[in-house]
Amino acid sequence: MGRKKNKQNQQDTPKCIFCGKTSLTKEHVWSDWIKNVIPRDDSKRHEHILMRQDGFEHRRPTGHVGSKTLKIVCSDCNNGWMSKIESDAKPILTDLMLEKAIIMDRDQQLLVAKWAFLKTIIAEYLDITWQAINSSERKYFYEKKLLPENIGIWIVKNETDKWRYRHLHTGGKVHYSSLPNRCNTQSTIFVIGGLIIYIYKRHDSSFTYPFLGEWGRSLTLIYPHEHKAIRWASVPSMNGDETELLRLNLERVLSLLSLPHGI
Ligand SMILES: [Zn+2]
Repeated sequence: MGRKKNKQNQQDTPKCIFCGKTSLTKEHVWSDWIKNVIPRDDSKRHEHILMRQDGFEHRRPTGHVGSKTLKIVCSDCNNGWMSKIESDAKPILTDLMLEKAIIMDRDQQLLVAKWAFLKTIIAEYLDITWQAINSSERKYFYEKKLLPENIGIWIVKNETDKWRYRHLHTGGKVHYSSLPNRCNTQSTIFVIGGLIIYIYKRHDSSFTYPFLGEWGRSLTLIYPHEHKAIRWASVPSMNGDETELLRLNLERVLSLLSLPHGI
């Protein structure tokens, strides 16, 4: 009986989402250093929306989206390779958030893309009901420190002061997946200061970005690489309404491709 209980306890012990170790530490969903670059002004609006195609349920947690923490990664991962991705990307992210007139080469685009994908993985644990990035994609990223081929990441400038911190997540299930009834497609939008990052996961690699719509023309692809260099001052901008329409466009596409809930 005692042995059975111990086994049960072992199974229940939370494990690192990347390496499986059990010595978990808190990780900020959004890196804590960001508050020193873009102050968290509570008089401004902050929003965090999680959505699922079947039901369109909205959740807007209280508190500042920038201060959320989760205990899902171990200290070795957090202080090792994750910390390196953070420190590598921080200088370029800082310049993007502050709208400095920089030029990003391909290496810098990749640093930002890796950081954005890592944060997307972490942020999906705010509510795993809508989690679309699966364990094999996490494993691929952890082992190779590369992004899976079904990930696309874009940047665009944020032109509104109304939203300086924003996190929009949409998860849905595209019908011709063999997976059980769980999300396999997602979009995440991070708005931090002057920077908007759009992270999209396709259910597979068989179609190319039908979701972007008219708002997609403003987006600049940073992964997979399309541009040798990106002049940040020349990148288009979006206001809050356009950002919302970009998110809604994925919902529209998902509604055409998804099965009703329960099938
Ligand atoms: Zn770990």
